[in-house]
Amino acid sequence: MRDRWLINGAWCDGDTGSTFDVRDPASDAIVATLPCAGEKQATAAVDAASRALPAWAALPFDTRAEHLRRAADAMTAAQRELAAVVTQECGKPLAEAEGEVRYAADYLRSAAEQSQALQQEVFDARRPGVRAIAVPEPVGVCAVITPWNFPIAMLARKAAPALAAGCTVVAKPAEETPLSAIAFGELMLQAGVPAGALNVVAGDAPAIGAAWLADPRVRKLSFTGSTEVGRMLMRGAAEQVIRCSMELGGHAAFIVLEGADVPAAVQGALAAKFRNAGQTCICPNRFLVHRSIAGAFTAQLALAAADLMVGPGTDPATRVGPLINDEAVRKVRNHVADALQRGARLVVGGDTRRLPNRPDRFFEPTVLADCHPEMLCFQEETFGPVAPVMAVSQSADAVRIANASPWGLAGYVFGPTAEAERVARQLACGVVGVNEPAPSNAYAPFGGVKWSGFGREGGHWGIGEYLTTKYLAVREQAGTP
Ligand code: ADP
Repeated sequence: MRDRWLINGAWCDGDTGSTFDVRDPASDAIVATLPCAGEKQATAAVDAASRALPAWAALPFDTRAEHLRRAADAMTAAQRELAAVVTQECGKPLAEAEGEVRYAADYLRSAAEQSQALQQEVFDARRPGVRAIAVPEPVGVCAVITPWNFPIAMLARKAAPALAAGCTVVAKPAEETPLSAIAFGELMLQAGVPAGALNVVAGDAPAIGAAWLADPRVRKLSFTGSTEVGRMLMRGAAEQVIRCSMELGGHAAFIVLEGADVPAAVQGALAAKFRNAGQTCICPNRFLVHRSIAGAFTAQLALAAADLMVGPGTDPATRVGPLINDEAVRKVRNHVADALQRGARLVVGGDTRRLPNRPDRFFEPTVLADCHPEMLCFQEETFGPVAPVMAVSQSADAVRIANASPWGLAGYVFGPTAEAERVARQLACGVVGVNEPAPSNAYAPFGGVKWSGFGREGGHWGIGEYLTTKYLAVREQAGTP
């Protein structure tokens, strides 16, 4: 495993003279000590990306796509090893980490299939004598900043379409989980992606971000992370008028309609809620269940949640791994305490489970009943394995409560299909699973509205984020034969 940064196809040290540790959240053991990159390395990465840009952009789409396909195949072949890296630094169960690696490889394959996005279009501009052509072009050097909860998939989701479009990339993974990004960089290099086309640095996040946003050669920022940091980066991006895609926090509602198949809704809730210990931006945070079935749903969900094995991600029996750090545990505890104090009823879970010789970071799958919108857990993302349930009398109430949030990333509706689809269309969010607990997919558009951001990742929508359109208005020169 490499323990340095990828700049211009070479493995480099940091520039700040300091180092930082990457820890296994399940044991607190230091798994790597990496050189801390700062402004100088960030700029060196842009130098490399900028130099690599003309040749990479000039390659035929198919040649670029071929590199991405080769990387996808290499990723699939190395699925177990890569999953072990993901689990080690972010804590999720190995089976989920393998799923994440497959998901990342899908982004490479999906991007490699989007050649039609790069076709120029001859169109009617209603200008007699003018041949009108819209030409898609790569935006240029792209900065991508990714979070710790899907350390390899989030990078692939951004780097793959950027590279397919003909852009070059400077990437900064989260300092909690840089090893997956380093492995991704190595894999891309081995797949033939030329030196400088993808560069990876991390360390002093604010210094790196500031260097990239001040650099006029950077033409695009794609960010996944908190709304707070996203806002700050957008302000910085204004200076050089850098185009942005922002995938920020979520606060998904999970609506269960009258007439829903309760066991199916419970299975859906279980899959959507407890994946990655509740640390995904599309995790349901508010369960709005029709009054006629709220009791049965809550009881069955609690029974099933109590059965989920809590433990280190490396244990094959584990379904719920540790939270990423102690701060995350504090936040989840605080949300549970607030809900209980405001009248919620604890049905199952409620605190961490103490495991011998392990840090106090394993939160039990928790189900809370009698919740209401005044509770913290109904107002912001918990990012933990807590399912707060509120009974509602009609679907219109569920929609109103769901849409009252300033966030709008994902939503779920379980129930009779036609009615569920009708309700789904009323939700103010970017992605809705209708009787489907895992709606995201590398071939589908993913992204939010309101405070959850803008821009879409996946499929042709994803590649469009890295293209700009040049309009050619061509009039024949008089007298030209
Ligand atoms: P989370 O709450 O998921 O950790 P953050 O928004 O804090 O989300 O982090 C997401 C990504 O943004 C990480 O890679 C992190 O290092 C990076 N980041 C945080 N602060 C800054 C900053 N000031 N400038 C650039 N990147 C930042």
